[in-house]
Amino acid sequence: MTTSALPPLREVIARHGLSASKALGQNFLFDEQLLDRIAGVPGSLEGRHVLEIGPGPGGLTRALLRAGAHVTAIEMDRRCMPALAEVEEAFSGRLRVIQGDALKIDPATLFAGPYAVVANLPYNVGTALFTGWLSGEAWPPQWTSLTLMFQEEVARRIVAAPDTSAYGRLSVLSQWRSNAKLAMKVHRSAFTPPPKVMSAIVHVEPAAAPAGVSMRVLERVTEAAFGQRRKMLRQSLKGLPGALHALEELAIDPQRRAETLRVAEFVAIAQLLS
Ligand code: SAM
Repeated sequence: MTTSALPPLREVIARHGLSASKALGQNFLFDEQLLDRIAGVPGSLEGRHVLEIGPGPGGLTRALLRAGAHVTAIEMDRRCMPALAEVEEAFSGRLRVIQGDALKIDPATLFAGPYAVVANLPYNVGTALFTGWLSGEAWPPQWTSLTLMFQEEVARRIVAAPDTSAYGRLSVLSQWRSNAKLAMKVHRSAFTPPPKVMSAIVHVEPAAAPAGVSMRVLERVTEAAFGQRRKMLRQSLKGLPGALHALEELAIDPQRRAETLRVAEFVAIAQLLS
């Protein structure tokens, strides 16, 4: 069987009775051109290993396979298994489907080497998975890139620059040792059923990690600073031992507020406190 031998996705959904489940964050994409564009965001996937979370009926999975990838897909919904088995058969040997909860499966147990992550994530677990991938101790991580669908508002927080209202803890976490960019916006009408808000694809690649920074300390600094983002640093950081001294040493004006600090300034504070 080839990809063209596979029935259209709408037919697959109808045949297997895959009515979208709200609890599982199911909003499906059917437009093949759009799916091919998403699969193109990480660059050529020919012969590469890809982890997909939440393949659902398999629209994005097909696009990844058309692009030449070897796909390992984790899907929670048992109802999708027969539809995914058809895709598995059509691309023999290049798709492996695992039925289970992605939050409970360690990808390191699935891959011997590097892999790219590409997913139209269920919104309810998306941020948890994303922060987990960004928080690993080993750096560079085993994943080579993350290409992920988010609600546009979350995507904007991930890539936000200082001095914007979207800039916060998620921006610092996403940018301190990674490059994060907004790859494309996706209109809500592209999904079935359409979600309430617009979506966007974020593409993240690991960069060199600054030396001597403990992730936990960086988290504590951003938590304190953005926990009271309207307050001056001298107030918001005063409960963090050594933080005011670090500001002085780095010549960072304690009257500034968290959202004016560049990622490199947060890193420098964490370096001194680590
Ligand atoms: N990839 C498909 C597409 O683009 O049309 C479906 C995307 S839909 C937004 C999210 C998918 O993730 C659903 O198929 C849902 O069943 C699945 N899912 C939800 N929670 C999950 C979890 N914890 N682990 C694995 N899959 C999950």
